[in-house]
Amino acid sequence: MTKFIFVTGGVLSSLGKGITAASIATILKQSGFKVSMLKIDPYLNVDPGTMSPLEHGEVFVTADGAETDLDLGNYERFIDKTLTAKNSFTTGQVYQSVIKREREGGYLGKTIQVIPHVVDEIKERIYAAADSHDFLIIELGGTVGDIEGLPFMESLRAIRHELPKTNTMNIHVSLIPYIKAAGELKTKPTQHSVQELRRIGIMPHMLVCRTERELPKNLKDKLALSCDVERTAIIEAGDAQSIYQVPLHFIKEGILTPLSNHFNIKIKPNMERWDTLVKNILVPQKEVTIAFVGKYLDLKESYKSLIEALIHCGAHLNTKVNIHWCDSERIQDVGAYDIIGNSDAILVAGGFGHRGARGKLEAIKYARENKVPYLGICLGMQLAIIEYARNVLGLEEANSIEFDKDTPDPVIYLIDEFIDQSGHKQLRTHKSPMGGTMRLGEYPFEPLKDSNLQKAYGNEKIYYERHRHRYEANPAYKERLEEAGMTITGQSNGLIEAVEIKDHPWFVGVQFHPEFTSHLETPNPIILEFVKQANANK
Ligand code: GLN
Repeated sequence: MTKFIFVTGGVLSSLGKGITAASIATILKQSGFKVSMLKIDPYLNVDPGTMSPLEHGEVFVTADGAETDLDLGNYERFIDKTLTAKNSFTTGQVYQSVIKREREGGYLGKTIQVIPHVVDEIKERIYAAADSHDFLIIELGGTVGDIEGLPFMESLRAIRHELPKTNTMNIHVSLIPYIKAAGELKTKPTQHSVQELRRIGIMPHMLVCRTERELPKNLKDKLALSCDVERTAIIEAGDAQSIYQVPLHFIKEGILTPLSNHFNIKIKPNMERWDTLVKNILVPQKEVTIAFVGKYLDLKESYKSLIEALIHCGAHLNTKVNIHWCDSERIQDVGAYDIIGNSDAILVAGGFGHRGARGKLEAIKYARENKVPYLGICLGMQLAIIEYARNVLGLEEANSIEFDKDTPDPVIYLIDEFIDQSGHKQLRTHKSPMGGTMRLGEYPFEPLKDSNLQKAYGNEKIYYERHRHRYEANPAYKERLEEAGMTITGQSNGLIEAVEIKDHPWFVGVQFHPEFTSHLETPNPIILEFVKQANANK
């Protein structure tokens, strides 16, 4: 029978609830338990796929093609596991199902209400995510006291009531602010937040206290007494240099005792390998600098998975990967060299829209001509093809039809039909609505023998990576590109998945997003190889 750990947040957002949840999951996983995670988002969007990256950060794509909250990425990176559409849901999805069922007559003429119908739908989704795991860690987005969080809180309360007492645990992540003028840490906001929780029927069994200063013993005693939580279950969580330190900090803080006591089981994590990787992150022996060329540089959250993937690869290579942020629009103004400088490698990440595309093309030309290791991801591959077509093939107006729908040479085009993951034919046209017309999720690809792609991935015939894009490389240009020295080194069912340049030490473009499958313990192969190349080029 699955045990449920509910993680709620108090006082304010951005306290690192997701990292807390993922860290607890990691500790349980490293103790040999089968662990899964669930993120609940109380907003009304069906998924974050249509939200601006400036608003919501990165959209994380699961293997089965769900567009989800970026916290799901953190979960996968920590517990080294592939999650699916079942591992996150939003208020929008809950209401969509309830209303659909009502329209279909599924409620037999009843009046549909938040209690019980919406709450039941939420509970069903939580139970479905449990899926015979030993533990399911559920993170509820938002903060206690938010109006939109109430139906979810009620579901947690109901599940607690339905299951044996040792099967559910409530963990509350709260803030203990330091008031400079008074020179004191204050517990009052946390006390109020716990009061609010109790008002809606939820008793916390553990408090994770986010604080900038060390929590003195007397404050822990006070919190335990006033919040009615076991003294051993007051866990201090100071700021960490790396998010991957957090599970180690929790263990040091004594989290194993309240977990073991509450569930009445032995919890003995083996963190040896994790510890080594964290040490490599904190005190690495080598150092490289990668020029990261992008558009949304003011909001690095939209490249979250890629930044983390570089950290994973650095940890495995005992290398600090410095990211040199290069604004593609500034490259347009002052040229590639001034901005990119002496970086050891160049990375152009995914993106949408023509803004900054010209600067990215210049960065790619710079990488190609100066033989700097290059990795282009998704749009970064598409632009590498455009650059090659224009400057090597001499097709001056070659473009993606995303940027110029009348281009005489649409080297990147809108494929009008393709076979999706489940083997169904998908049709796409210019008039298709924005949501849901992208190639999403995991697709297989075959690396070409002796290519850099194969050297990175290995000798299996087929590998899988995840996608999120609307446009594709146009196979009509394949022959001309190959004759001119750009090789197609990865293919999936006739779709072009990877390109490389022959006359270059390491120039790789991939249509997929390798960053989505990189975990601390298992870094993504192509990104790992890219960082190795940066090291070699230093
Ligand atoms: N804008 C491009 C497309 O839709 C690339 C998308 C991406 O980089 N994720 O195909």
